[in-house]
Amino acid sequence: MAKDVLCEVSNCTFWAVGNLCSADRIYVVSHTGEKAKNSRGTDCKTFEPADELS
Ligand code: SF4
Repeated sequence: MAKDVLCEVSNCTFWAVGNLCSADRIYVVSHTGEKAKNSRGTDCKTFEPADELS
């Protein structure tokens, strides 16, 4: 089980300084709808865009 998730998607609501993810858990999916062949074929479905004004 992953204890620490490092993430550079800084415009996500759950992103925290130090490239950390503050979500209790994340859901990673294959964005092709099929078996991913490499990391580029995966996406974080937990992503929520941060309020651009905050
Ligand atoms: S929810 Fe996903 S995209 Fe958002 S900070 Fe966590 S790992 Fe990154």
